[in-house]
Amino acid sequence: MHRPALSIVVPCYNEAACLEMLHARVSAAAKAAVGEDYEILFVNDGSRDESWPVMQRLSAADSHFIAINLSRNHGHQLALTAGLDLCAGQQILIIDADLQDPPELLTDMRSTMAEQQADVVYAVRRKREGESIFKKATAAIFYRVLDRVTDTPIPLDTGDFRLMSRRALDAFLSLPEQARFIRGMVAWIGFRQVPFLYDRAERHAGESKYPLGKMIRFALDAVTGFSTAPLRFASHVGLALTGASLLLFVYIAIGFLSGSAVQGWTSTMLVVVLLGAVQMFVLGMIGEYLGRLYVESKRRPLYLVADVAGPVLGQATLGY
Ligand code: UDP
Ligand code: MG
Repeated sequence: MHRPALSIVVPCYNEAACLEMLHARVSAAAKAAVGEDYEILFVNDGSRDESWPVMQRLSAADSHFIAINLSRNHGHQLALTAGLDLCAGQQILIIDADLQDPPELLTDMRSTMAEQQADVVYAVRRKREGESIFKKATAAIFYRVLDRVTDTPIPLDTGDFRLMSRRALDAFLSLPEQARFIRGMVAWIGFRQVPFLYDRAERHAGESKYPLGKMIRFALDAVTGFSTAPLRFASHVGLALTGASLLLFVYIAIGFLSGSAVQGWTSTMLVVVLLGAVQMFVLGMIGEYLGRLYVESKRRPLYLVADVAGPVLGQATLGY
């Protein structure tokens, strides 16, 4: 099997308006870096727009280009996994389809990798252009909370834009989980990983494919995948409530003995509502873990491929 010097992997969901420009820019960047010895994999993640026909057209015109059509929308992290599974390169660049991550940085990322003998060069966002204050604020909070609760040091303000060596990618691909938080999983494998600062550009076209609901799910996958701190939280709350109830006990006893016992609808309701809320919240947290355990235990394939267009794949495992 031929291993090209470089694979560029791009997950795409409703990105038709970006694909041609993206193809031109990643091709130019790849040629500048490694000459002709590269492949480009676009993964169509069940787009409902013209993305797949555009990819088929591109693959017919460019022998470096492989287009993979998933059977439906599997989500960003699984689409990316599909591309990483199927690529064959000795170095692998992961990049978003919307050109927020400039492909031209490839040359510098490769020099950093060579100079520092790194296995992973991950791009850290110094600035984010054209994103809402809400998106930037939630992202900033998310990375910091995650950093506090996880045992794996996951770099702050870092997306999936990164360059990896083949051995790092193979290590990454040995992680089988369904609930995938790829930037954390890559941090988990270790090896030598170095940051690379860049300014994140505005989207080339279209809008973010991460609405609030998907963002929350992504954050929950990250926390549950890399920390059991929320489970310990239950015992901490239990301990605090035990302390509070002892104080309340003393207060009630004094009231009883001095003959001025509390009358209490207000206090009773307060306790009932508070305990009910805390219990439901903790139960919900346990449920998040339990649900993921259930999903993992089914051992379904991570994704299914419907069609492939372009050169024959190096490692045609197709996920099933
Ligand atoms: N994406 C995907 N499947 C999805 C959602 C997103 O493949 O279900 C891709 C999307 O096409 C893009 C990347 O994931 O290449 C990041 O998405 P987006 O740019 O919308 O996220 P943001 O930059 O707003 O966080
Ligand atoms: Mg984007």
